[in-house]
Amino acid sequence: MSIARVVLKSGDQLSSISILIWRIAQTAVWLVGAAILFCLLFYPSLGVLLFWNILIPIAPALFVIAIGVWRNVCPLATTNLLPRHFGLSKRKKLSVTQLGKLNLVGVIALFVIVPLRHAVFNTNGVATAILIISMAFIGIILGFFYEWKSAWCSGLCPIHPVEKLYGGNVLAAIPNAHCEQCMNCIIPCPDSTPNIHPNSSTKTIYHKLSGWLIIGGLPGFIWGWFHVQDETAITSLQSFINVYRLPLIGFIVTLLLFGILSKIIQPKYERGLISIFAASGVSCYYWYRLPALFGFGNYADDGLLVNLLGILPEWSLTAMTITTTLFFFYWLVIRKQNNKSWVIRPQFANKQDVVEERLPEVG
Ligand code: SF4
Repeated sequence: MSIARVVLKSGDQLSSISILIWRIAQTAVWLVGAAILFCLLFYPSLGVLLFWNILIPIAPALFVIAIGVWRNVCPLATTNLLPRHFGLSKRKKLSVTQLGKLNLVGVIALFVIVPLRHAVFNTNGVATAILIISMAFIGIILGFFYEWKSAWCSGLCPIHPVEKLYGGNVLAAIPNAHCEQCMNCIIPCPDSTPNIHPNSSTKTIYHKLSGWLIIGGLPGFIWGWFHVQDETAITSLQSFINVYRLPLIGFIVTLLLFGILSKIIQPKYERGLISIFAASGVSCYYWYRLPALFGFGNYADDGLLVNLLGILPEWSLTAMTITTTLFFFYWLVIRKQNNKSWVIRPQFANKQDVVEERLPEVG
């Protein structure tokens, strides 16, 4: 069912001092990203540690609490939006079907790329650098053609489906530090729509599929992923298949579970079901990731940041993981939906005071 809703123009333009502060923040984070990329290429062990064992483990919690901050300072977004900031973009609008296809390709790319961490990326800095450079290259090319965040940040980016799943009940809406004016380039805009989630738009089969795959599949996929050991070298087809086997099994199990539950519950509870799956995914991530960071993981040095085995008592890690699980279920499931968007929509460019916008269609 589609809901037509009137969205008032916010008129929330950034002051010049705010723009300056955000540009400084974007530049600082971009430089950190460039430094990590440099390390991945020339000091791979350090680069892998910084990227996979510090930056990436912070990301899911940031997505849950304040995804708008990440959307404003993500170094890849800053790079990809440069053509638009410098007036070099053709500023085309994507059709609904094109956007749906990009979203679906992004979800599939996520599930294909992440198991490859065990095969190569977790242990090979240069390969990780090539992955990041490839994504930046694709994003920049798209930025030359399409309006603001529509094609990469809200379209093809493989991280975006996870942002939409985890970012359903953020702490606060912050100013949009990229889009100078809203061109209505994507409807519903994931940045500017309160309480967005992966099923907020079911306009095409591509939207529907990408929503189902990420909501249903991600929790099991994460569980399976943490039960696979890093390969130091892929020497056979079997070891290559092994990095996909358990994530795929987990993916199928929770996808089926979500499919069954969403059929038997009343539509008004579907949002709650999505929140439970989101909380399960992020909790499962930290359940395994926190012990691994401190030397208590399933597989020796996999994902190790600092080895505290023998220093920290084992129960402290159990306490930490129970705490994070309780926190994410509270934050995403129990806490009231606060009707906040990731960022505040900037003033509409077309000067209309009201804009008709199609908003979340659930189911
Ligand atoms: S805020 Fe407006 S211009 Fe920016 S991405 Fe969203 S719809 Fe596009």
